[in-house]
Amino acid sequence: MRKREGEQRLREALVRAGCRWTRQRAAVYSCLEKVDHHPTVEEICTAVRQQLPNISLATVYKALEALVAAKLATKLTYGDGSARYDCRGEDHYHLRDIETGEVRDLPTDFDPALLDKLDPRLVRRLAEDGFQVTGYRLEVLGRYDHRASSQADHSADSQL
Ligand SMILES: [Zn+2]
Repeated sequence: MRKREGEQRLREALVRAGCRWTRQRAAVYSCLEKVDHHPTVEEICTAVRQQLPNISLATVYKALEALVAAKLATKLTYGDGSARYDCRGEDHYHLRDIETGEVRDLPTDFDPALLDKLDPRLVRRLAEDGFQVTGYRLEVLGRYDHRASSQADHSADSQL
């Protein structure tokens, strides 16, 4: 039942954006919803092929572009030309591993007043220069210390 509701929502959003619902697009969206990080086209393609072995990279790419047009996903682009996809709609922050390029959601609440905390005059000063602030993005950079995270997992297990 819940699966059917999700499919209906996907169908309506695609049609509103002038895109067709296809089995491939549904499979790509479902893969994107399942992962806990923001994958590249290649990573999504590998995952979708477990379900649809013959799907091409170009079809996956077009499916992702349709999801972006339907506002069901956001394309995160980087200076090196790489792109990752995120299906979480509300404002939030990211962290990025500078060695692997992996992008995940930052485990903290979004603060709409953060710019004012940074500089209380900034938004007004920009408006005086003719720049209307509509939002901001924040990305925390770093690298995973896998030794530390496996210890954290271990202590979480022992609490269960
Ligand atoms: Zn995200």
